Amino acid sequence: MQHFSIVIIGGGPIGLACGIEAQKAGLDYVIFEKGSLVNSLYHYPVNMTFFSTSERLEIGGVPFVSNNPKPVRNEALEYYRRVTGSFNLNIRLFEPVEQVSRTVDLFEVVTSKGTCTADHIIIATGFYDIPYLLNVPGEELPKVTHYYKDPHFYAFQDVIVVGAMNSGVDAALETWRKGARVTMVVRGPEIGTRVKYWVRPDIENRIKEGSITAYFNASVREIREDEVDIDTPEEMITLKNDFVIAATGYQPNLQFLKQIGVMLSDDAVKCPVLDPDTHESSVKGIYLAGVICGGMNTHRLFIENSREHAVKIINAISRKRS
Ligand SMILES: Cc1cc2nc3c(=O)[nH]c(=O)nc-3n(C[C@H](O)[C@H](O)[C@H](O)COP(=O)(O)OP(=O)(O)OC[C@H]3O[C@@H](n4cnc5c(N)ncnc54)[C@H](O)[C@@H]3O)c2cc1C
Repeated sequence: MQHFSIVIIGGGPIGLACGIEAQKAGLDYVIFEKGSLVNSLYHYPVNMTFFSTSERLEIGGVPFVSNNPKPVRNEALEYYRRVTGSFNLNIRLFEPVEQVSRTVDLFEVVTSKGTCTADHIIIATGFYDIPYLLNVPGEELPKVTHYYKDPHFYAFQDVIVVGAMNSGVDAALETWRKGARVTMVVRGPEIGTRVKYWVRPDIENRIKEGSITAYFNASVREIREDEVDIDTPEEMITLKNDFVIAATGYQPNLQFLKQIGVMLSDDAVKCPVLDPDTHESSVKGIYLAGVICGGMNTHRLFIENSREHAVKIINAISRKRS
């Protein structure tokens, strides 16, 4: 059975950063990624613009050159692919880790393709795998998506966008610009306060001029083939509908952490319990990196403030070995 000093779970920007630091420290490692390289970023909407500037998305000290003040998804895919290639990182794509268990002095890691052992595990699995559901009848219909991709698909259709954070606002504006008739259903009283500052006036003006209809303090009650029922503060209304884009956010797979014994905080945030200096979890030898460290608070950590986890973890592992 193959043995590694470090198994890194997740080939997102932070998993890659951990691989780079491990390589620099001369430690043998492997990164398992369940999908494509930087799988979460690959699944972002095709026209997505980052809220971070390019230098804040850099890993391994490699400059990220972009022609735009804020880079777009395709540039980020290109950047992380070039970084992976030029470091020749040891990454196995389309190979999900299914189970991690402890033997006497090692970890046994079961993936979809086999089993290996490791002295240390780094979990960098992000938060993009599990969408928050609306939990209403009809959500399972094929016309409902939690992963909006491309506006062209919605041209000249009746589209409901649920949510008014960055993803919802981008989806509403893009699909409207391709000729969709867009209605936003927003749980709160206004467009999300964290919406990108250069996008916010655009959506507010489209709503004000009546190009996009928005119902605030509202929620979806039921989705049917051709209609959707919406509860507004005044009354329940029924709208003709072709597609629903549920931009209701995502949550990390905390069940995976629990299964391998990582303790979470008792409060609603369910933050993994970590040593802040080393990022070692409550299970000795298991470290956490990237946005997963924020638990259910998915707005606290980004690439720019979690890439440092890689250095902390690899320093801690190197110290242990010396
Ligand atoms: C629409 C959108 C826009 C965003 N814009 C920005 C931005 O501008 N700036 C910013 O810093 N952040 C942004 N974020 C947040 C961003 O997604 C994260 O900061 C970044 O992806 C975190 O990197 P990560 O490596 O921690 O997690 P991820 O990029 O999510 O990587 C985790 C990886 O783990 C893999 N994985 C999960 N489970 C397993 C398993 N069992 N086995 C193997 N692999 C597994 C996943 O497939 C994924 O590739 C945005 C998020 C969204 C949704």
